[in-house]
Amino acid sequence: MSATTTTFAQDIDRYGVIGHPISHSRSPFIHGEFAAATGQRLVYERFDVPPESLTHFIPEFFAGGGRGLNVTVPHKEAALQLADLLTERARLAGAVNTLAKQDDGQLVGDNTDGAGLLKDLAALSIAIKDRRVLILGAGGATRGILAPLLDAAAASITIANRTLARAQQLLAEFSQHRPDATNRLRLAAYEDLHEPFDLIVHATSLGLSGALPKIDACVVSPTSDAYDLGYGADLTPFLLWARQHGACSSHDGLGMLVEQAAESFALWRGVRPNTDEVRRKLRATLDLKS
Ligand code: NAP
Repeated sequence: MSATTTTFAQDIDRYGVIGHPISHSRSPFIHGEFAAATGQRLVYERFDVPPESLTHFIPEFFAGGGRGLNVTVPHKEAALQLADLLTERARLAGAVNTLAKQDDGQLVGDNTDGAGLLKDLAALSIAIKDRRVLILGAGGATRGILAPLLDAAAASITIANRTLARAQQLLAEFSQHRPDATNRLRLAAYEDLHEPFDLIVHATSLGLSGALPKIDACVVSPTSDAYDLGYGADLTPFLLWARQHGACSSHDGLGMLVEQAAESFALWRGVRPNTDEVRRKLRATLDLKS
């Protein structure tokens, strides 16, 4: 196996998260808490898997007795190709964040990002219905959240991305599966955004680098909610920017992280853990670092 791993007893179910880089991932903490709270015996590890090793790593992990993997940046789209079966939401997304080995040996690819976002927005009392949504970014995360936001009756969704061709490709693929939704979907280059939105979702991987997509502040109005899929001890640069320009609320993606993990856990273990305590603990560990 290309990534460093620890030796565990054969009878413990093995799970993990793959990404590149991966050292920052909070998933081992979250799944460890879920396992303890639900009385499940399992191990969950981090694996740093560079793109060139993905096609070897995944089959090796499952052939070696692995039961499930979470998939994060930059592998979500590539991992889709390695699944034997896809859930409807993964097929629509064209990206997977969860792989599960079934008892018949088949590898199922799922995408729990959208469900995680919707759960968190509901917990934050942020409405989606009849609202104009702007998503910044067109990567794997945007693929995962697009259908759930549409199904929650967003009035329109505008996708803006640095590389417009990538957003065009995403929309072309998505529209094949969901022709009914095309009249509510729009594309824009960052520099072409000139109107306010009700909900602005930051879904680029700029993270805490300090950089921001180059967008005009006119997208923010006093009734705009700002949501960043990223999170950290400090307010993310996007949320800081949104607040400075008068957004009525600003939230990071920590709640989504916990909720999408709970969905993966439910797929793997057949039980959906309570998320309140883990959200609180995770926030506390981030605060300790600030
Ligand atoms: P990805 O597939 O690698 O896509 C990256 C996106 O970021 C693309 O839209 C890319 O634009 C954009 N980007 C990268 N560098 C940029 C730059 N310098 N300037 C402008 N845009 C830039 O990543 P992903 O899977 O979509 O994940 C995106 C973020 O969401 C990550 O930070 C991830 O950790 C986070 N996320 C959080 C959760 C959660 O539960 N909270 C869940 C999923 C993802 P181009 O196409 O132009 O390169």
